[in-house]
Amino acid sequence: MVDEYKVTVSQFLTRPSVDPKYADKEPVPFRIMFGYVVEETQNGIYLKLEGKAAPSDICFVCGRTLKHPVSLLYGIGPDCGKHMHNSPMPKNEIEAWFEELKTKMKNTTWEGWLPKAYVKLEPTGKKVTPSKTNPTKQVVSKPPIVDQNLVKELVLELGF
Ligand SMILES: [Zn+2]
Repeated sequence: MVDEYKVTVSQFLTRPSVDPKYADKEPVPFRIMFGYVVEETQNGIYLKLEGKAAPSDICFVCGRTLKHPVSLLYGIGPDCGKHMHNSPMPKNEIEAWFEELKTKMKNTTWEGWLPKAYVKLEPTGKKVTPSKTNPTKQVVSKPPIVDQNLVKELVLELGF
């Protein structure tokens, strides 16, 4: 068992890379995901993440501040959760929608290297079981895409 973290990434990490060299690097699907650390270097961190619906005042998908009561309960804003058109939603509709959302979030997974400086980790206090695949082997076959120059370029370009 390993520690589970709530992982918040900088917005540019959720967008496709502007550098063709990294065009095949998949962006992180949500601003806030949950998961564990597989490996760490001085500047990089290899994370295995999945989406989760949980109470939050920030949208897990896009990072915007939440005000809608349904949004606050599940951590997804009206745009990202598509619940903006019925407010207030009847209770049974909310439940059905939430079940669908939970499944959708849990099925959204991501793993890979991220630059430590643009990732915030907060322990959730929970333990998770790492998946059966041998992560160390996968990491070796995939060199870390943590190019500090690329990160600086991106940050400048996107105005962070
Ligand atoms: Zn959102």
